[in-house]
Amino acid sequence: MRYAILAAGAIAIVLVVSFMVFAHYVMEGHPVPTTSLDQVAEGMKPHQVERLYGKPTRITESADGSEDWLYSSPYRWCMVSVEFTPTGKVAHVIHDH
Ligand SMILES: [Zn+2]
Repeated sequence: MRYAILAAGAIAIVLVVSFMVFAHYVMEGHPVPTTSLDQVAEGMKPHQVERLYGKPTRITESADGSEDWLYSSPYRWCMVSVEFTPTGKVAHVIHDH
């Protein structure tokens, strides 16, 4: 009986630690390289953004020719969105964290 309680306690500890590691992964990371996170600025061209952030997860084109580049990763809370003007320059960067 005592061993059963000890085993249950050990399993509970493993579950809590696993959850904390997973929660840390979900909450702390960004879908773009941390070193280049703050380097995309207004007026940049798409190829400059791609060099810093890599290929976007999804591109949404609007009728006026503007584009919205979305960066996300599975199970991550953080999303980064780069909006381009119809002339192909960064209008703004939204870091939703
Ligand atoms: Zn972030």
